[in-house]
Amino acid sequence: MSTNRNWAGNHTYRAPIVEARSVGDVQDLVRAGGRVRALGTRHSFNDLPDTTGTLVTVTGIPGNPVMDEDEGTVDMPAGMRYGDLAAWLHPRGWALHNLGSLPHISVAGAIATGTHGSGDGNGNLATAVRRIDYVDAAGQLRRTSDADPDFDGMVVGLGAYGIVVRVTLAVEPAYRVRQDVYPGPTWEMALEHLPSITGAGYSVSIFTTWTGTDVGAVWVKTRLTDDDEPVPDRLLGAPRAVGPADPSSNLTVQGGIPGPWHERLPHFRLDATPSHGDELQSEYFVDQADAPAALRAIRHLSDRIAPVLLVSELRTVAPDRLWLSGAYERSALSIHFTWQHSGRHARHQGGRSRPVRVLRPAALGKASQPRSRHPSRGVPPAAGSADALRSPRSRCGVQQRAPAKPRDPCPLTPITLQRRPAKKARMSPATSSGRSSDAK
Ligand SMILES: Cc1cc2nc3c(=O)[nH]c(=O)nc-3n(C[C@H](O)[C@H](O)[C@H](O)COP(=O)(O)OP(=O)(O)OC[C@H]3O[C@@H](n4cnc5c(N)ncnc54)[C@H](O)[C@@H]3O)c2cc1C
Repeated sequence: MSTNRNWAGNHTYRAPIVEARSVGDVQDLVRAGGRVRALGTRHSFNDLPDTTGTLVTVTGIPGNPVMDEDEGTVDMPAGMRYGDLAAWLHPRGWALHNLGSLPHISVAGAIATGTHGSGDGNGNLATAVRRIDYVDAAGQLRRTSDADPDFDGMVVGLGAYGIVVRVTLAVEPAYRVRQDVYPGPTWEMALEHLPSITGAGYSVSIFTTWTGTDVGAVWVKTRLTDDDEPVPDRLLGAPRAVGPADPSSNLTVQGGIPGPWHERLPHFRLDATPSHGDELQSEYFVDQADAPAALRAIRHLSDRIAPVLLVSELRTVAPDRLWLSGAYERSALSIHFTWQHSGRHARHQGGRSRPVRVLRPAALGKASQPRSRHPSRGVPPAAGSADALRSPRSRCGVQQRAPAKPRDPCPLTPITLQRRPAKKARMSPATSSGRSSDAK
């Protein structure tokens, strides 16, 4: 099994991967000459980071975050995972404005692609960036900030202008969130009143397989001023699921139980395998004004999509000024697809995946799901049910890989970079040692 694959296992990096231990390591590598490109935690579904030269990851550069309470910012090593940053911020009384569906991704990798969560009023994660320290093509350590004219063109930078080594993000006082699930509502109601759904909470996700008369489920994450704050019992006629959350799930707690922001805004728990585990993802952005027309058009394709789909997720992103953002100067609806990776999908795509743009996971679950029906209890879920979409066995009966245990989704290949004088730097090629047994 190759050790140089991305999280989904659909791309093997052709470049050797070097794990830098310091900013000096990065500078040495760049100064040694040749093409050098940054790799994060490998969650992109395509070859975006790859190069004919050398890949360098900064996830191994140690260091703690540094708060500037007066400025309302936190500065951290760029390779830090969002989940670790959130766990550091929260006990100190601070929070980020939003998170993506999984907390396992690196800050540098996420902002480079404009990774987003959801919420009519929430910009993507890169909109929180205030400063970036990076190593440029000459090996110089440089800083850019939101005061610089080119900043908006650099934040969502696809790793194209240098190796980011530190990032400063805006923070705000910590807050609490509850997460409720509304199975339904009907497509008819949803298309007619889409803003009522997307605006039903601080962060809203609509999960669908495009088939049937109902959309599937709406997950509403409500930002609370008070834990007792009520939420509606119905959303466009769809009743709120009630009952205890499933503790064995890889999902963050649902069922309306209030909790800290970083344990509710991501869909997936940091200590579990995110999403389905064997999947490909792609995503389109449309202007929110065009959303109903776009969704109607996709519904017309449902008989072609459904056989190769695990689930789709619809989210909103607030407008920003970042040149390469999918929400550049427009309120966007992101239409996301989690595709089956094995069997029919591979054949359908001629053996190649064709993600349009990197994106996110699946998992459609009900807070009230009875424990006895959970797939891990050995009871197969009914086709098309929420359980089926969360099960290792897909809706279509194609066997999906069931992760044996929680894993770091992308453990990095350990590589020793010898500090050498400029122009003499060498790197060892990636080896297969050091991978955990459950890695792809
Ligand atoms: C299960 C799953 C769920 C996901 N959920 C979401 C979601 O909810 N929302 C969403 O928008 N996306 C989502 N994604 C996509 C993911 O957020 C993006 O692919 C993100 O870019 C991954 O970050 P990474 O650290 O793995 O970066 P990589 O995939 O390793 O790299 C991505 C890009 O970042 C650049 N980069 C990485 N590190 C640096 C650095 N130090 N300096 C400069 N450039 C750098 C690389 O060159 C490359 O261009 C999901 C992906 C998966 C697998």
